Amino acid sequence: MTDIPHLPFNDGNSIPQVGFGIWKVPPEIAADAVASALKTGYRLIDGAYLYMNEAGLGEGLRRSGLPREEVFVTTKVWNNEHGATKARASVERSLKTIGLDRLDLVLIHWPVPSQDLYVETWKAFIEMRDEGLMRSIGVSNFNVDHLERIIGETGEVPVLNQIECHPRLAQPELRAANARHGIVTQAWTPLGQGQTFEAEAVASAARRAGKSPAQVVLRWHIQNGTAVIPRSVNPARQAENLDLFDFDLTEAEMAAIAALDVGVRTGPDPSVFKML
Ligand code: NAD
Repeated sequence: MTDIPHLPFNDGNSIPQVGFGIWKVPPEIAADAVASALKTGYRLIDGAYLYMNEAGLGEGLRRSGLPREEVFVTTKVWNNEHGATKARASVERSLKTIGLDRLDLVLIHWPVPSQDLYVETWKAFIEMRDEGLMRSIGVSNFNVDHLERIIGETGEVPVLNQIECHPRLAQPELRAANARHGIVTQAWTPLGQGQTFEAEAVASAARRAGKSPAQVVLRWHIQNGTAVIPRSVNPARQAENLDLFDFDLTEAEMAAIAALDVGVRTGPDPSVFKML
């Protein structure tokens, strides 16, 4: 079984560099998908209250028979539950729904600057972490100004920033800012909806390495030091997306893939997104 490297957090904990994302996994098959991913070798499940499948996440975890400490569980607090009271209620509900007494990582899902509650939410996260509801606290979809504001106002640096990142949106500046602060970058939609699978930079590296285009794109993230959370409910693809550690991309291949960056998002812009 693949030995998945861990990336160190600035709080002393660490996270597997590859995990299994469960956005859009229907609740009725979430337990099967999570159990299958854990059987395949994944040790990180990336969930969120928004995904409406936290009960399945917990069921899959129990069904796997793995000791609790072997699996890293992430969840997120949604946009309409910012603020001290609601954020706490959200974390407590996630713990109950998943069936755990402690989460490994909780993220603020989006900053929602228009409601200006992310600093208060971050302060609540610090308290909950200190009380033991979660081991580590982080953010998602935070731009540099959002990061710098929470760090400036609390002195507490997130362990991780989960951002949209793939070859068409390579985010070099935001990844560098995360790194400067000692924050792990984790890519969501790491495969970029397959939009670069046929690009020559990806296809030729795949032919040369004897790997699939998806594996080449994921390997590009890995060599950038980015963590990834690809999603597939298909066990063969789950295995493919974990089989990333027996080949290297050359510097020229890395640069050719980086050159596919056109700064185009598949998702919303964090500076204005506010779906509540
Ligand atoms: P992804 O990049 O993981 O792509 C998933 C799609 O690619 C699916 O259609 C799947 O069938 C296909 N796929 C998977 N493996 C493949 C392979 N080997 N070959 C060909 N196709 C393959 O995209 P995603 O689900 O959008 O993102 C991954 C995870 O990121 C989510 O499940 C979720 O956990 C997280 N996420 C977070 C946010 C956020 O705002 N924080 C937003 C979106 C997603």
